[in-house]
Amino acid sequence: MSKVKEAYKEIEHVVGVDFISDADFMKAAYSRNVDPAFPDRWADMIVRPETTEEVSEIVKIANKYKIRMVPRGGGADLVGGSVTESGILIDLTRMNQIFEINLDDYYCVVGCGITWGSMLSELQKKGMTTGILGPGSGYSATIGGGLSNATVGFSSTKYGLVPDICLGVEVVLPNPEGTIIKTGAAANKYATPFCRYGVAPDFTGLFMGDVGTMGIKTKAFLRLFPDPPLKARRYYMLLNDDYSKVFELGHRLRKEVGDGLNDLMVFPFILATLLSLQAENKPQKKSKLTGPIFSVTLEATDQRILDVYLEKVDKIMLKEEACRPFEWHEIDLDMVSSKDWKFTLKEEFNFFQKYISTAPPKSSCTTCHKVAISRLNESVQKGVQFNLKFKDEFPPKNPPYPVFASFLMFLPNGNCVIVGGLGGDNTDEYREATMNIWHKKIRHQVRYGGAHYWLGESISQSIVEADAFTPEFLQFFRDMKKTVDPNYLLSPNKFHMYSYDYDYTKHIVKDE
Ligand SMILES: Cc1cc2nc3c(=O)[nH]c(=O)nc-3n(C[C@H](O)[C@H](O)[C@H](O)COP(=O)(O)OP(=O)(O)OC[C@H]3O[C@@H](n4cnc5c(N)ncnc54)[C@H](O)[C@@H]3O)c2cc1C
Repeated sequence: MSKVKEAYKEIEHVVGVDFISDADFMKAAYSRNVDPAFPDRWADMIVRPETTEEVSEIVKIANKYKIRMVPRGGGADLVGGSVTESGILIDLTRMNQIFEINLDDYYCVVGCGITWGSMLSELQKKGMTTGILGPGSGYSATIGGGLSNATVGFSSTKYGLVPDICLGVEVVLPNPEGTIIKTGAAANKYATPFCRYGVAPDFTGLFMGDVGTMGIKTKAFLRLFPDPPLKARRYYMLLNDDYSKVFELGHRLRKEVGDGLNDLMVFPFILATLLSLQAENKPQKKSKLTGPIFSVTLEATDQRILDVYLEKVDKIMLKEEACRPFEWHEIDLDMVSSKDWKFTLKEEFNFFQKYISTAPPKSSCTTCHKVAISRLNESVQKGVQFNLKFKDEFPPKNPPYPVFASFLMFLPNGNCVIVGGLGGDNTDEYREATMNIWHKKIRHQVRYGGAHYWLGESISQSIVEADAFTPEFLQFFRDMKKTVDPNYLLSPNKFHMYSYDYDYTKHIVKDE
């Protein structure tokens, strides 16, 4: 019997016959993420454990037979992260329990396969929130995916990335023993998971944004915040397409509105132009679209405080007559006016989805990355110059300027996310050319100092190709991975690491 078949039988014994499959229809169903340029990749088996102990047993068996493993949550990755060619694909979505919601100490304990939708609807009933509300892919993405992809999402301006709300994790290490550890305060077996630092070095960080290379996260300990009941949103349009002004105003909003600023996003006016063309219920009078549109979401615990925030925002945005108030129903009468806007989880998600893949309506090779906000204008200009310079390298059907989620999202401190991508056409004919220009664009962003977050395969490899890491850093990374994964079985391929002695330097690309 082949080693895969033997491993299958042993794993079947662990999870039960209903939760393992090597049927072709299952392999096909799990062969992709929302991938714009990867070919279908079939795992040898799909396994759906329910408990941490089951995950640990699977890991032991994988080590016994030296079979690779890749963890998967909601599978909403865009960069080839949660699929595998051969090996064991571990679907964690049955690990979807809420173990504890601690209203006294402001934390919760959840299974890493729980979706944002399930968790947030339970928290909302109790007037609580994790602050960040998950990624734009929607509420069926999981907490484990969010921690592993260092996800940015709704309310990130105030609450940061998903790892920023993490107090610790329970992880199964991919070693032959399938070791289970807890990090944060929970590393102290006498403590509850109420804080992250101070018990030991911050080993939680080892597993944050690791794209599933360092361990399989099974439980997460997350911060809770009382959800401020009063929220308001306002929109403003710049009178010119001037991103240095975007920086200036964004900076002032951060500084002067502070804690009241829940979300700050900026949409390019090309997006408004496209949405106005697509609107079913168009107003008679055509609105004049002149520049980027600011979406400012505020929150407070008291109406008087909210009123002060609203006044401040108006003052900042309208003072120098650089902007005017804007309403989406200027281009689409079906959109709600900002005065009538009410926060709901569903509405928030629909709002975001409306702006994804406006044109062309297909998935994109994403290039979302963070830049320091002071370098916002420069980075936007560099992106435009890249597209112009290399436009002939884009496959014919892939426009260099798709309007895929093309907007800016401000984060705490000096961070800003430039969300976006280039058109993806996943056909055999154009796949290689698409992959090449995608990697090239990521290398370009890495070299102007951009920091990506979902790294999966394509982006983690592009960072290595750009020669961004020092040899010392890469050696440290390899040493750390070797400690947890001596047989090199968990998520191979990412970061162009194929074995511990593999010479990654052959992947370094010297672009112009
Ligand atoms: C339309 C669209 C919009 C998106 N918008 C955003 C956005 O706004 N912000 C953002 O950050 N992302 C966004 N994404 C990307 C993606 O959906 C998110 O990063 C999301 O958090 C992934 O969660 P998931 O559960 O689907 O993870 P998966 O796709 O299942 O996995 C993601 C990565 O994490 C690893 N992983 C998953 N679970 C575990 C675990 N328990 N232990 C260890 N490793 C694990 C996987 O191996 C993989 O590398 C978007 C995607 C789409 C399609």
